[in-house]
Amino acid sequence: MSAGIEKTGPGAQIARRIVTTVPKPVLLMVLTFFIGGLAGGALLLVPEWSRLVFRQSLMRAYSAPLENGTLLGADQLGRALEWRLLAGLAISLGTAALVTAIATTLGIVMGLLGGFFGRTADRIVTLVIDATWAYPTLLLAVVVAGIQGPGVSTVVWALGLTLWAAMARIVRAQVLVLREQDFVLAARALGYGKLYIAIRHLVPNLVPIWILMATLFVALTIVAEAGLSFIGIGAQSPTPSLGKTLAEGFSFASSSSWPLLLASLVIVGLVTSLNSLGDHLRDILDPKGRVPAFRTPRMRAIMQREQAAAAPAASPTVLAEEVSVSIRREPGEDVPVLTGLSLALGSERALGIVGESGSGKSVAARALIGLLPAGLVLSGGRVSWQGGGIAELDAETLRGQRGRFIALVFQDARASMDPLYTIGDQITEALQAHLPQDAASARKAAREILARVGLDDPSHFDRYPHQLSGGQMQRAALAAVLVLRPRVLIADEPTTGLDVTTQKKIVALVRDLRREMGMAVIWISHDLDLVTEIADDIMVMYAGQVVETGAVSDVLRAPSHPYTKGLIASRPSRDIAPKSLLPAIAGNVPEPGKWPISCRFLPRCGNAVAACSAGQPLLEGGTDRRVRCFNPVTPVREIPA
Ligand code: SF4
Repeated sequence: MSAGIEKTGPGAQIARRIVTTVPKPVLLMVLTFFIGGLAGGALLLVPEWSRLVFRQSLMRAYSAPLENGTLLGADQLGRALEWRLLAGLAISLGTAALVTAIATTLGIVMGLLGGFFGRTADRIVTLVIDATWAYPTLLLAVVVAGIQGPGVSTVVWALGLTLWAAMARIVRAQVLVLREQDFVLAARALGYGKLYIAIRHLVPNLVPIWILMATLFVALTIVAEAGLSFIGIGAQSPTPSLGKTLAEGFSFASSSSWPLLLASLVIVGLVTSLNSLGDHLRDILDPKGRVPAFRTPRMRAIMQREQAAAAPAASPTVLAEEVSVSIRREPGEDVPVLTGLSLALGSERALGIVGESGSGKSVAARALIGLLPAGLVLSGGRVSWQGGGIAELDAETLRGQRGRFIALVFQDARASMDPLYTIGDQITEALQAHLPQDAASARKAAREILARVGLDDPSHFDRYPHQLSGGQMQRAALAAVLVLRPRVLIADEPTTGLDVTTQKKIVALVRDLRREMGMAVIWISHDLDLVTEIADDIMVMYAGQVVETGAVSDVLRAPSHPYTKGLIASRPSRDIAPKSLLPAIAGNVPEPGKWPISCRFLPRCGNAVAACSAGQPLLEGGTDRRVRCFNPVTPVREIPA
């Protein structure tokens, strides 16, 4: 274990951070109130002790502190305030805990339903949230009080059934962001179901929000209980809640203001210290903290079904036939972002896809694995794995095949790993989810694959994503995918942002692993040189369509499309004179929706002829070499063998 890597469990680490981070006065106040609440609970539950809370003695009414055998004085009926306040703390904290449990549980469930389980669920959830939001809490409390009479339970139901909407709104907004994070997409690419991803990856990332909202709800409930008791629909005499003590203190303030002042001080102190603690806890349990994983029986059942569905592939081929993808705005207003993509990836072949940003490479990768980002839809064509169309596969089979048959490595490796779990845990979990085996075997396999990708220091297993460098992180992301030995690996610009040496090492690593595992690889990059180091074939994309395909050596030796020629000429080369600018293709890739109806490369092409503005060129040629151009630099039929 290297320096800086904690050996203690997550609970101990969090406890230590709480003790060292939260200011001591805040901790002391919360602890005092908590112990007071426990003591108050004991007072109420033990009949002999509860007499202390309710015993009246008009002889000592309005006693000051330390008078007539009291510690903190007495109220208008001569009941000792110290016992009343202890019991009040127990009732108020208990009420707050119940309200918080109802509101946060409902809020998280509804927020997840709306944010992660489809458009219809989202519409229904949003409607229910809006309806709840529009109904005033006070009015609901009056309605509940009218049905079941005033009391503490009225406070619980009135607040629990309205506060959840605030929680659900925030959770839904957070889930909408989280669901597009690479680590969630990576989990989907590995074949996990939505319920599993929601519980394993989304819920732990909602913990900081939960803590903040829970402390807010506790504080709100204590204040609201005081308010509702004050107007007579909360706790009723002789129930000694903090709100009731405050209300009675107010009623008899003209005789003695001390009970009112004391109850006010307790409420303000309790609410202030809870809010302060919540702020500190939220900072402590940030995404770089540690939230223990848990699995319900339902999750285990789902995982077993996924394992059963993940039978090894016999014929690893990916086939795309005229695949088109569009941005769906309104019905009938689709904006195409990828058109007519056709490819056939043979077993153990490596295909490089190149093009500038905006050429459609990443959308093509997502279409091939059947995981389009939100807002994009498959508007035409068919993707097949091993001869079977993925549109015809049921959701469970599809999930089982992702990860085992086809896997995707994302550009931002750090974002594709969940920051709440160690690298080793995530790889072990991916393995166990797809291949039934005990934890020890899975951990051993995870350590082996980490060593295989060059992370052979044992401490790497226990590190969190933020504790690895960019190159190490990319290797870890590769390990998380390769541990399942997929038959097809799609790498979407996996080396962007890394230094040249690390890029080359990663490419060499994938090349070796490809040979060793017999994988087919689709390597997406804007760097032609990197692609040439790993790919057998190359596909050049521009403005959402393929413009040239062929064997890497053929295309580099004799590019046929003017865009391919421009890309090759733009590479850094020893032949370029010192201090001279690199040649570049003038202009930019047009955005989707602004593509010319003629050849999409026409505005940037130096080879254009009259026919180029008349219509779209087709992708023509033989099986080995094809080009989409009316006036190619080198006509395909003239390319020397
Ligand atoms: S079709 Fe014409 S405009 Fe388009 S790339 Fe070929 S030569 Fe250039």
